[in-house]
Amino acid sequence: MSRSVLVTGGSRGIGLAIARELQQAGDAVAVTYRSGEPPEGFLGVQCDITDYAQVDAAFKTVEEEQGPVEVLVANAGITKDQLLALMSEEDFTSVLDTNLTGSFRVAKRAVRGMMRKRTGRIVLISSVVGLLGSGGQANYAASKAGLVGFARSLARELGSRNITVNVVAPGFVETDMTAALSEERQAEIKKNVPLGRYGSAEEIAKTVRFLSGPDAAYITGAVIPVDGGLGMGH
Ligand code: NDP
Repeated sequence: MSRSVLVTGGSRGIGLAIARELQQAGDAVAVTYRSGEPPEGFLGVQCDITDYAQVDAAFKTVEEEQGPVEVLVANAGITKDQLLALMSEEDFTSVLDTNLTGSFRVAKRAVRGMMRKRTGRIVLISSVVGLLGSGGQANYAASKAGLVGFARSLARELGSRNITVNVVAPGFVETDMTAALSEERQAEIKKNVPLGRYGSAEEIAKTVRFLSGPDAAYITGAVIPVDGGLGMGH
């Protein structure tokens, strides 16, 4: 099975693990990168997902090089943590603009080709924080919760075209994003995780592989937690 896949924010962390996993599954994988260098072994397309013109240009390149995108993984995301009283409007809107509106931009561009082909898979990377909330992360949690309503609306709109739209909600995963947390905070988080550890990027990637593959053909509008039990019941 070789499909045309696009993973946003695939230059490092969870996105890179997803790109590797899908490439191993036999897909042609393109990754967007914003800064630095693209990872080796993939079609790298530079793209800031806060700019629709860049998103459109990235899709054009992918279409030319490996065909219309059949699997979209909207993974790129940022945090700008701050308590509400100290959070600037820019801290709030920029996180929403990247995590939520950024996913809107890439999904909107991707469905054009998927609707034509009457098949497609969209996987959005949310977070357990979108379901549980998190002090100091109101902007991030709002953006990640927003992805759930967004995905479920798309699942309803696009189901008749055989396009599935699902959400993966990782718990805490070892990447640059969590390395930025203080040791104290990291220990506190692990205490609340039934499995007692962080997840690995590869563990998230394997769930994305499943959701994008043939065994998940009848799953849409789902929110799949991969969080060591942290968000149980949500
Ligand atoms: P990283 O910070 O390691 O990587 C984030 C990636 O997103 C980078 O490739 C980054 O590019 C890219 N990116 C950020 N902003 C933009 C933008 N405006 N346009 C294009 N690309 C952008 O994050 P993780 O790998 O940890 O996280 C990946 C996803 O998983 C995120 O959506 C995150 O919210 C989510 N997640 C992570 C968890 C964790 O514990 N790590 C837990 C739950 C969810 P660049 O290199 O240029 O900065």
